[in-house]
Amino acid sequence: MGMHPNIEKLIQLQKIEIQIKVLGEELKQLPQRLKLMEKKLEKTSDLLEQGKEDVKVIEFNRRQAENKIKVVEEKISKYRVQLSDVKTNEQYKALLQEIDFQNERIHTVEDDILKDMEKEDRLKVNYAELEEKHRQEVSQVSDEKKIAQKSAAEMEIKLEQSEKERDTLIKLISPEVYRIYRSISDIRKGIGLARATESCQGCHVRIRPSILSRVMGNQEILTCESCNRILYWQPDGPYEVSS
Ligand SMILES: [Zn+2]
Repeated sequence: MGMHPNIEKLIQLQKIEIQIKVLGEELKQLPQRLKLMEKKLEKTSDLLEQGKEDVKVIEFNRRQAENKIKVVEEKISKYRVQLSDVKTNEQYKALLQEIDFQNERIHTVEDDILKDMEKEDRLKVNYAELEEKHRQEVSQVSDEKKIAQKSAAEMEIKLEQSEKERDTLIKLISPEVYRIYRSISDIRKGIGLARATESCQGCHVRIRPSILSRVMGNQEILTCESCNRILYWQPDGPYEVSS
């Protein structure tokens, strides 16, 4: 004797209802994934902006330092001219000292420039890397947007088909049986039907042999004494998800 049509339809119904649930959740997750990517892109944009600013500042500082050197060099030139006009040895010595002092200043500024140039190079490399990262993320977001839109459209079609299939199936199940299934499914996270082995595969509690032998016939609506799920017998079928 084959499976009672009610039981057969219930198995199909539960499968479709699980599918509908999964599709609904996946649809919800699509925009979230995109949002995450957009957030990442926003962060990179900020870093890129900051990197640009850092390069500008350090370039400005270098130009300032170079100007300072020019000013000091002009001062030194003036002192050198004055050297030929001095009258006393003291004045000559004092001027030479001043020239030494100004040369020292130039060296200090030049050292600073050298140090900053290394930093400037690093900042520019960093900026170029950020630019590349930014470009990649922009194209990723754009790709992801297209994929998400396409997936959403496909999923919505699938969802609609599954819902139609579900409605058709419900009409083919006797209303009383459907009511039993529905009430259990609603309180058992969408699993109102469980495959029976020696135990109920919904809650893993052992089924009494007298009940199990009736379940094996697949002709009656029998429920698990522990979780109340409707039991069916399908020795070679896939296990139902328990929850
Ligand atoms: Zn059970």
